[in-house]
Amino acid sequence: MKYEAVIGLEVHAELLTDSKIFCGCSTKFGSEPNTQVCPVCLGLPGTLPVLNKKVVEYAVRAGLALNCTIANFSKMDRKNYFYPDLPKAYQISQYDLPLCSNGYIEIEVEGGTKRIGIKRIHIEEDAGKLLHEGTDGSLVDYNRAGVPLIEIVSEPDISTPEEAYQYLVKLKSILEYTEVSDCKMQEGSLRVDTNVSVRPVGTTDLGTKIELKNLNSFKAVQKALEYEIKRQIKVLEEGGTIVQETRRWNEAKGITEPMRTKEEAHDYRYFPEPDLVPIIVTEEWKEEIRKTLPEMPDAKRERFITQYGLPEYDAKVITSSKKMADFFEKCASNYHSPKIVSNWLMGEFARLLNDTGREIDEVPITPDMLIELLKLVDDNVISGSIAKTVFEEMFFTGKNPQIIVEEKGLRQIADEGELRRIVRKVIEENPKSVEDYKKGKEKALGFLVGQVMKETKGKANPQLTNQLLREELSK
Ligand SMILES: [Zn+2]
Repeated sequence: MKYEAVIGLEVHAELLTDSKIFCGCSTKFGSEPNTQVCPVCLGLPGTLPVLNKKVVEYAVRAGLALNCTIANFSKMDRKNYFYPDLPKAYQISQYDLPLCSNGYIEIEVEGGTKRIGIKRIHIEEDAGKLLHEGTDGSLVDYNRAGVPLIEIVSEPDISTPEEAYQYLVKLKSILEYTEVSDCKMQEGSLRVDTNVSVRPVGTTDLGTKIELKNLNSFKAVQKALEYEIKRQIKVLEEGGTIVQETRRWNEAKGITEPMRTKEEAHDYRYFPEPDLVPIIVTEEWKEEIRKTLPEMPDAKRERFITQYGLPEYDAKVITSSKKMADFFEKCASNYHSPKIVSNWLMGEFARLLNDTGREIDEVPITPDMLIELLKLVDDNVISGSIAKTVFEEMFFTGKNPQIIVEEKGLRQIADEGELRRIVRKVIEENPKSVEDYKKGKEKALGFLVGQVMKETKGKANPQLTNQLLREELSK
């Protein structure tokens, strides 16, 4: 029997508001534990929450960007559960009347686009953070308690781990564009849970679903789903049944492991939050928020193709991050070849960002600096390969390219006399290659160019080197 997977994703994103959802405490990440707390977010008796208006505004912004219907009437509810990271023993969330619903994201699949439904987006407060370090039990940091979150729940429209990955990449990019969340997974401001079931192809009933947790990257989501789908199919093929439960992804072993049996909604005893008034979003306010939405990734991609003549692939890669797209546009509007800019962004820049795990706005290179570097290549001051060395130096030190070139003596050798002397030396030292070249082996010329480059530490002007080598060899 052939099986197919049914996948749904739940994404929690911390909102970039300055203060928490129900009090004035700061939401800044990385402060000393328990320094950003007050009686409200510590859940002390007698305190009352006041909803931060910015939270509603940001959630509506995200909802509009994700094509959702915005409820003009919604409310907050209490989700009751006991855990040391939750000081009130309930979380203020939204149950039956979420702020946003019925949206969608379009992802690219083989042969076109696929629409993945977004069932709902609701707002809620984050819990504190337990630290299980040391031997004297666990510690709790309440700085995160009350940080505003949106939870984005997809419809179970996702059929493969690859589609799940595409969905997450697109969702993150849209959230970054709207600037409602910084989406830093490493700081926990974006967290993903997924649930997956399998069923025989051709049937419509849903199988028993398994929730997966501890997914620290989009790649981990993809790998965990791949593993879990295989596992479930194997259980069914061996005549077993799937037990509804939550499983944890073990990255080191590459497997999922049982964590706990899954709670049902009734276990949480949801009821309306009596200390908060309902949330009313008027048409006027909604339209005001809509007007502040920036150009979204898909629209920007199309524009980059027509306005800058970028290939589809380049436009897609560059617009997947708003920061990258902004950087590109600042360069491209002041430089003659947008494609060269895009090559640098997707090549050296992306490689170094990847290696260092940094974001484009966390490195000291500005668009002006990159343009200056490109102009040094255009003016034959440095060669393309030396430019990569200079770029790396810029990346780590923030020094101006011109200064790096002077300091390190990287200026290209374009002096014909000097270069001819080196060319002659190389010819003298490589009689075998010279002979090969004269027998018609073009490859030998490449080797000799390489030797000149080696001799000059990459500083020889490539065109001139080629020209001089041919001249000298034909003598
Ligand atoms: Zn507080």
